[in-house]
Amino acid sequence: MPSRFADRTSVEVVEEGMLLAPKFDANGLIPVVTTDAATGEVLMHAYMNEAALLKTLETGEAHHYSRSRQQLWHKGATSGLMQSVQQLLIDDDRDCLWMKVAVAGTGASCHVGYRSCFYRQVSPGEGDIKAGRPIALAFTETTKTFDPIAVYGNAPNPTQL
Ligand SMILES: [Zn+2]
Repeated sequence: MPSRFADRTSVEVVEEGMLLAPKFDANGLIPVVTTDAATGEVLMHAYMNEAALLKTLETGEAHHYSRSRQQLWHKGATSGLMQSVQQLLIDDDRDCLWMKVAVAGTGASCHVGYRSCFYRQVSPGEGDIKAGRPIALAFTETTKTFDPIAVYGNAPNPTQL
């Protein structure tokens, strides 16, 4: 099947071209960073293959490729927390996408129950790294927006949400 996307023929075309020409990696995937269109908060990082990107463009709802389940993944199909794409951007060398979304329901994007998958942090320059200790994580979200067990049963998979 011929690709729906333009060829990457030159540096000029790659950096300044006006046709979508994503660079999929050796596995046929392109990384996607998803942020909340209203707040700018980074919600998640995942991958699309060509089919997932086309489905996203056709429907306006976020679709990814699940590497663990090796299948197309309609974000929110299980939980109802669909992501409506407000804007989709591609970076200079076209090997990464940035998707700005409005999230349905409670607004959560993480299967663990938090708004963002990035709900834990480390603080560079603090004690653990200097002391050679294991590096501790601190939670940045204190409450879950939903109960994962209630939504998915006992073993939520990251790509079920
Ligand atoms: Zn998550």
